[in-house]
Amino acid sequence: MDRSWMRADRRTKEYQRGVEEFLMYAFEHGFDENKINCPCVKCAHSKSWNARRVRDHLFLNGIDETYTCWIWHGENVIESGSSQSVDQIPIKTENSYAHLCLLQNTTAVRPYFDEHMSFLMTKYPEHENDEVWLKKKQNEIFPRWFQEKIASDLLNEKKWNINAR
Ligand SMILES: [Zn+2]
Repeated sequence: MDRSWMRADRRTKEYQRGVEEFLMYAFEHGFDENKINCPCVKCAHSKSWNARRVRDHLFLNGIDETYTCWIWHGENVIESGSSQSVDQIPIKTENSYAHLCLLQNTTAVRPYFDEHMSFLMTKYPEHENDEVWLKKKQNEIFPRWFQEKIASDLLNEKKWNINAR
């Protein structure tokens, strides 16, 4: 999917179309029209609004340009257009995680997001209270961190093998 619109001027048709496409994407992936995670620069995924408000924010504040893989809105693999769900991901092959970009709000992954957040706060104490910065950073480095985390969990506890059944 072409997401170059995210870098376009907010007054252009291209950007407008992109915003609509983004909202459609969220609906198609089962998000409630009244509760869509807001990817605008100010909210940076820390708040959820109804579709109208998210649209307003995207025009007023602009969209987070680094958010090219829509993990907070149902996208879970880098190959866009795939509708594979987290359950179908071959959980036992460590290497497959290299291609993942995971859903934030699946119950299995959620605790890892929280853990990652604490990790970020420890690693960047100077940004400890800057939620926007932290969310952005998390977006950037979570997939990679998660991959390593799972690999080490597999070795330590075989936790994911159990969960995968
Ligand atoms: Zn917002």
